[in-house]
Amino acid sequence: MRITFQPSGGRGEYELSDYAPNGLMPSDLLELSVRLLIGEFVLDTGVKLTKAQGKYRLRRVYSQGAYPQVQIQLANLLLMPHPIREEPQMGGGELVLQNSSYIIKNIQFGNVVYTPETSFFTAEVLTVECKNQTIEAEQVATLKRMADIEKIWKQRSAFPPDIASLLSQHEEYVKATLPIPQAATTLVQQLQNHMERYSSEIEIPYTATTDVVPALLSALGEILEEMPTSLDQIEPEQMELRFRERKKWQIWASRRGAASVRFRKEVRTAYQQRCVMCGNRFPATKCNDKPGIDAAHILPWAVYDLDKIYNGVTLCKLHHWAFDEGILLIVSRGGKYYIELSEAAKNNLREPEFSIDYLQQVVGEIPRRYLPAKTTDWPDSNLLERRNAEFANQPLSSSPLS
Ligand SMILES: [Zn+2]
Repeated sequence: MRITFQPSGGRGEYELSDYAPNGLMPSDLLELSVRLLIGEFVLDTGVKLTKAQGKYRLRRVYSQGAYPQVQIQLANLLLMPHPIREEPQMGGGELVLQNSSYIIKNIQFGNVVYTPETSFFTAEVLTVECKNQTIEAEQVATLKRMADIEKIWKQRSAFPPDIASLLSQHEEYVKATLPIPQAATTLVQQLQNHMERYSSEIEIPYTATTDVVPALLSALGEILEEMPTSLDQIEPEQMELRFRERKKWQIWASRRGAASVRFRKEVRTAYQQRCVMCGNRFPATKCNDKPGIDAAHILPWAVYDLDKIYNGVTLCKLHHWAFDEGILLIVSRGGKYYIELSEAAKNNLREPEFSIDYLQQVVGEIPRRYLPAKTTDWPDSNLLERRNAEFANQPLSSSPLS
């Protein structure tokens, strides 16, 4: 049994369809209100099942106060961006939950229970399926999502006070076992706004209107196990989306706990703590705990090659930035390696306020002595090529070059 979106003229309607594993049919549940069950959390939506023109529709009962529709209450419970109901207004070119112009397509139930003489039925929610113009169906697994939200609630004191207090209010709404009020929509939006400011402070990529849960988890360092969407699954023309997912891969690859620490150490050792672009060496010393040289992945989304030295290079802080932003590229040709200025940088970074000349100093062949002793540890030309191809299609509006 599920609640399903039916386009009907301008605004879509939500209907109850199919039957439950125990054989209950929508007709058995008529005039009862819907309670949703996610793990141990019960949401009494206050929304009733009614029948009109042969359809089992979910209607708000105004006499009991204006509760939001079921899908809105559920979205707010799960801290999802505000969904819409108008199909023509659906957005595209983005993952679902990356902006507000998505539609909740299905709310899939597991067990559905009804006890005679009560005025409600209880439905266990398994997944919430969402769509936009680009993506036909994205499943949100509700149990996993609630577990993530509980983790965030528990650690809310790690966040600035305005975020912490919104999280606390959200927990109260969810645990009240009452309909989630309209005010919760504002709460989610405020959380998104505060998180945008906070994320720029702690350098986590996040923009308000997008899904706030991964950003909150990421801030807590809890997202390590979750891989971003594979670039192979995103159409080449979706440049903005590819760009964002690529950034996520960079962060994901650099934060995988012990595996990542080992990779960084091995790469730095192979390169003798030397920046492959400028040749400067900044190892850790008695004066500095941290080396001034980073190990960067060439292709963070090449999961199979992730921890191989040939998928890494060492870079000083400045050149790491220029490499990550795609301003300076490493190119392999005829067994030699070259630093090149990207086409976009050549064409767009001529303004006097940008010190392109300084970056340009390292352009040219990489001296043999900057590379690891073992040639099998040298940057893999195939990985370099794939990386450079990805950067060649960078959308200028999202790049620092605009
Ligand atoms: Zn350097």
